[in-house]
Amino acid sequence: THAATEDAIRSAEAHSAHNYHPLPVVVASAEGAWMTDVEGRRYLDMLAGYSALNFGHGNRRLIEAAKAQLERVTLTSRAFHHDRFAQFCTELAELCGTDMVLPMNTGAEAVETAVKTARKWGYRVKGVPDNTAKIVVARDNFHGRTTTIVSFSTDPEARADYGPYTPGFEIVPYGDLTAMRAAVTDNTVAVLLEPIQGEAGVLVPPAGYLAGVRELTRERNVLFMADEIQSGLGRTGKTFACEHEGVVPDVYILGKALGGGVVPVSAVAASSEVLGVFKPGEHGSTFGGNPLACAVALEVIAMLRTGEYQQRAAELGDHLHRELGLLTGTGTVEAVRGRGLWAGVDINPVHGTGRQISERLMERGVLVKDTHGSTIRIAPPLVISKEDLDWGLDQLRAVLTDQ
Ligand code: PLP
Repeated sequence: THAATEDAIRSAEAHSAHNYHPLPVVVASAEGAWMTDVEGRRYLDMLAGYSALNFGHGNRRLIEAAKAQLERVTLTSRAFHHDRFAQFCTELAELCGTDMVLPMNTGAEAVETAVKTARKWGYRVKGVPDNTAKIVVARDNFHGRTTTIVSFSTDPEARADYGPYTPGFEIVPYGDLTAMRAAVTDNTVAVLLEPIQGEAGVLVPPAGYLAGVRELTRERNVLFMADEIQSGLGRTGKTFACEHEGVVPDVYILGKALGGGVVPVSAVAASSEVLGVFKPGEHGSTFGGNPLACAVALEVIAMLRTGEYQQRAAELGDHLHRELGLLTGTGTVEAVRGRGLWAGVDINPVHGTGRQISERLMERGVLVKDTHGSTIRIAPPLVISKEDLDWGLDQLRAVLTDQ
C-alpha cells in the first residue's frame, strides 16, 4: 500500500509552502546510510542531507552526546556563560588552526556573519572608507537564502522577486584568477568562495586557483573567506577542501556536518585580529552556541580529530570516482566531478533529466538529488560500507542501461 505516502504528501502540499519539490518518499526512520519510509521500504541515502549527515543517521556517539546534554541544560542564550561553550570554541578554533570562533545555527547565518565580519574588519582594520566595502564572489555560487546572500547569487530561481538587492558584491567567473585579480580593488575587504562549488554541480576549480586566490588576497590585504559548509568536515577526504591545495584561508565558514545532522550548528572561525572586531551587542543569535549544539559539535570535532572519517572519504571516494569514471567511458555519463565521497555526475540527457533519474533510482532503493539539467550528485554518509556503495552504484548502472 502507498496510502500512507500519498496521504503525507497530500497534506504537506496543502499546508506547507511549495519552496521544495521533494522526491515522493516519506521517511520514518534511519540508521547509518539507510532510511526507512512509512511503508517499511528501505533506501540507501546517497545525499546525506547535503553533507549534514557525514557521520550517518543515528550515529551512536552523537546521539549519546545529545541525550546526555538534553538531561543537563539545553539553552542559556548568550546572556550567560555555560559550561560547554569555552571547550567548543577552543576545540573548533584548534581544528581550524586558528584562535577564535563565532557560533551561529544555519549555514546562511554563518555566511551573513562572515560578510559582517569582513565589512567591519574592512572599516576598522583595513581602513576602507565608510560604506564602500566590496566583497568579491563567484558566479554560480551557493551560500544560502537570506536577502543579502541571494543578492549576489547568479541563479535566477534563487534571486527573482527578492529585490531591492544588497549592494557591495562583485561577481567574477569561478576558477578565473585573472578575472579575480581585476576585480580586487583597494576597497575590497574579502573574497568569498566555495573551495568546491556544491550546488553548481560539484565544480572543482582548476589546480592552482585557490592557491592563486590565497596569494592575491594576501598581497592585497583582503580576507580569503572559504565557505566550507558543504565541502568541509571530512567530505572530500580532508578536514577542509582547501587543504587539497595546501591553502589556509583567513576565515572558515562551517555548518551542516558541524551539527552532525542532529542540531543546526554553524560557525565562523578566524584569527582574533579578524573576529576581534565584534564588540558586545554588535552581532548575535539566541540559539548560537547553545549547550546542546556545543555538546553535539564537540563530539563531531572529536570524531574528526581521529582522521578516520577523512580517510574513509578519501578511500571510498577513490573507489566511487573510479567506478563513475568507467561509466564515462561508456557514454552513459558525460562528466564526473568532485573529490572524496562527493560527485557531480552529468548523465547523458538521453537517459532523462536529473529528476527522472533520481526518481528511477528511488524506485530501486537509492536516494540522490538532482541539480541542474541531467546532473545528479552523490554524497553518501562517510560511514557507508563499500558493499553498500557498490550496491548503490549497481542501481545507477541498472537505471542507465534500462533505457
Ligand atoms: N553555503 C554552502 C556552500 C551550502 O552548500 C549551503 C547549503 O546548501 C549553505 C551555505 C547554506 O546553508 P543553510 O541551508 O544551512 O543555510
